[in-house]
Amino acid sequence: MEKIDKIGFIGLGIMGKPMAKNLLKAGKSLVVFDVVDSALSEVVAAGAERGTSPAAVAAAAPLVLTMLPNSPHVREVVCGKDGILSSARPGQILVDMSSIAPLVSRELCALLEAKGADMLDAPVSGGQEKAENGTLAIMVGGKEEIYGKVKDVLDLMGKSNYVAGIGAGQIAKLVNQTLVGINIAAVAEGMSLARKAGVDPEKVFNAVRGGLAGSQCLEDKAPRMFEGRYNPGFRINLHIKDLSNVQETSRALHLSMPLVAQVMEMMQNLAADGHETLDHGALGLFYEKLNNISLKK
Ligand code: NAD
Repeated sequence: MEKIDKIGFIGLGIMGKPMAKNLLKAGKSLVVFDVVDSALSEVVAAGAERGTSPAAVAAAAPLVLTMLPNSPHVREVVCGKDGILSSARPGQILVDMSSIAPLVSRELCALLEAKGADMLDAPVSGGQEKAENGTLAIMVGGKEEIYGKVKDVLDLMGKSNYVAGIGAGQIAKLVNQTLVGINIAAVAEGMSLARKAGVDPEKVFNAVRGGLAGSQCLEDKAPRMFEGRYNPGFRINLHIKDLSNVQETSRALHLSMPLVAQVMEMMQNLAADGHETLDHGALGLFYEKLNNISLKK
């Protein structure tokens, strides 16, 4: 493979911008692209070279990272007009860090491999703060020897973990979003029982947090429910997107996931009420409306 003397970065949003800036801070040479000019200009001002299209970025860099909203955006950046595929060549590597459908990762990987290039899927967990601190959890799928070539770069943005072949990073991310969504709903449901029974939910939180029911979700989301503090964080509309990818995958596998279906309906109900840009901890609001209670202190 070509020496990684330059890294391409496409998708400079809430997550991609701080991730790209961390690579610059570590002394990496970057060529970047985004369809939003203000986002692009900000990272160029921080020291990156301005790219003019995904194809131009791929032509200039042997390693390209993408951090885009969902499957259609990644497909467009890879296969669309002036897409990465038109400049893909033997030895080149695409690492897609967006959270997308695993089947799409596999489809795009096959197209790139037909041109002699390689692809990893490497979605992340952690949100904007961990993107800024360079402490994301990165879940990697693809050929292990390709992971070995880019691990040092990934670990400048967080801690990477190799899972298995292409699409396995996305499967890990879908499992992550399943666990998180159901866990937050469980926090809201449990705290609703405390409130309705006349027991202070915050006292219950303090009583249970050190036991088996303790979790990072409980620690982050229960205090938000007690304060009615639902600024994101991780937005309901992104979690709906991820659960939609969970359901697309589980349908293809004929796997029954009843709890995901329930949480999806709760999140759709919140979106119908105009709450789609709130933090997913706003599942507390769903239970408040359902039971005509308040979880606030
Ligand atoms: P975002 O919407 O803030 O950023 C996406 C960027 O991609 C935008 O700047 C947009 O202009 C750009 N883009 C879209 N289409 C493009 C195209 N065709 N060519 C070039 N650029 C294009 O999204 P985000 O919050 O940064 O999330 C990115 C991914 O990371 C998503 O898959 C999301 O689910 C995942 N994720 C987000 C968080 C979070 O807390 N925000 C946490 C973990 C994972």
